[in-house]
Amino acid sequence: MKEHSERFIPVSEPLLSGKELEYVSECIKSGWVSSLGHYIQDFEGQFARFCGSKYGVAVSNGTTALHLALVSLGIGPGDEVILPSLTFIATANAVRYTGASPVFADSEKETWNIDPQDISRRITRRTRAIIPVHIYGHPVDMDPILALAEEHHLQVIEDAAEAHGARYKGRRVGSLGKVGTFSFYGNKIITTGEGGLLTTSDGDLDARARFLRDHAMSSEKRYWHTDVGYNYRMTNIQAALGVAQMERIEEFIERKRWIAHTYNQLLENVPGISLPPEAEWAFSVYWMYSILVTEKYPLNRDGLMEKLRSKNVDSRPFFYPIHVQPPYQCSESLPVAERLSQQGINLPSAVTLTEQDIERVAAIIRSGSR
Ligand SMILES: *Cc1c(COP(=O)(O)O)cnc(C)c1O
Repeated sequence: MKEHSERFIPVSEPLLSGKELEYVSECIKSGWVSSLGHYIQDFEGQFARFCGSKYGVAVSNGTTALHLALVSLGIGPGDEVILPSLTFIATANAVRYTGASPVFADSEKETWNIDPQDISRRITRRTRAIIPVHIYGHPVDMDPILALAEEHHLQVIEDAAEAHGARYKGRRVGSLGKVGTFSFYGNKIITTGEGGLLTTSDGDLDARARFLRDHAMSSEKRYWHTDVGYNYRMTNIQAALGVAQMERIEEFIERKRWIAHTYNQLLENVPGISLPPEAEWAFSVYWMYSILVTEKYPLNRDGLMEKLRSKNVDSRPFFYPIHVQPPYQCSESLPVAERLSQQGINLPSAVTLTEQDIERVAAIIRSGSR
C-alpha cells in the first residue's frame, strides 16, 4: 500500500521567508530583546495605519488585547457584554476575566456572523458593550450594530483576530467600532509567534490601554501605581516579526482571496456543499476557507473530515458554540450557531498552498462517498 505517498497538506502554516530573520537578528545583536526597542512603535504605527485607526497598542496576544480593551473601557462586575456564541472561546473568556457576564447571541445564516436582530433582543439595563467577531475573515454587517450601540449607549469592540485587512463597505475592520482587537498567533493572517494589538482612534482610550498594559505605573512618579494593572507587553522580537510580516500583508491577503476563488470554482456544483459567504458590501480575507457539509452530501461533516485525513489532508471543524461548553453552558438553544458548528469545516488555507494542493483537496470533496 502506498498510503500517504502524497504531501501532507496542513490547514495553516506561517510564511516567514521575508525579512523576519534579519529583523529578529538585529534585536539579538543589539540586545533589545525585551519590550523596549524601535520595532514596537514601528509595528504599532504600521498596523494602526493599515487599519485606518489613529493608535495601535501592541500586546502579548489576542486574548490580552480583548481583556485590555474591556478593562480600558471600564467594563467589570455587574455589566453584560453581548457576543456571538460561534467564536473562539477567548472572546468569552476575556469578558469573564473582567467579572462582567457574557451574553451569547445567535449567528446569521448569510454571513455566519453575529445576528444584529438577536443582539437587539438581548439588550438589558446592564448591557455595556457588544463584541462583533469577524469570523473566519468575513466582516460583520456593522451598521445595524453601530446603530444599536448608539441608541443604547453601548461600546463596540471588534474582535478582528481572524480578519486583518477585511473591509466593510470599503473600510478596514478594527476602525469601525470604538476599539478593535487583533491576534498574531501562528495561524493568523500575519503572525508574531504570539502577539496581539488593540486599535482605536480615541486618544484617551489609547492612553488608558498603554497605562494598564504596563502595570498602571504613574507617568509622574516611578513605581507608583494608581490602579491594578497588567503586564501585557509585546516584546521587540515579536514586533520585529510583525514589521517583517507587514511588508507582505497585502500579498498574503491577495493569496487568501486567490485560494478562496480557486476552491469556489472547483466546488461550486458539488451537491450538498455550501460555499463560504461574501456579502456584496464585504471584502473577506478568507482567513480559513470554510464550507458547510449539508444533509444532501453523501457523508456528514465528520465523515468528510475523516476521508480528508485518510488522504493526508488536514482540516478543522468549526468552533463549538460557547453556550454549550462547560464554563458557559445554558439551556437556551441558538439554532443557527449550532447548525453551523455541526456542518462547518475549515479546509487547508495556508498562503503556501499551491494550485495542485487545492485541486487535490477539491477532488476528494467532489468524489463524495466513493
Ligand atoms: C485567535 C483568536 C483570539 C485569541 O487570540 P490569541 O492570540 O490566541 O490569544 C480571539 N478571538 C478570535 C476570534 C480568535 O480567532
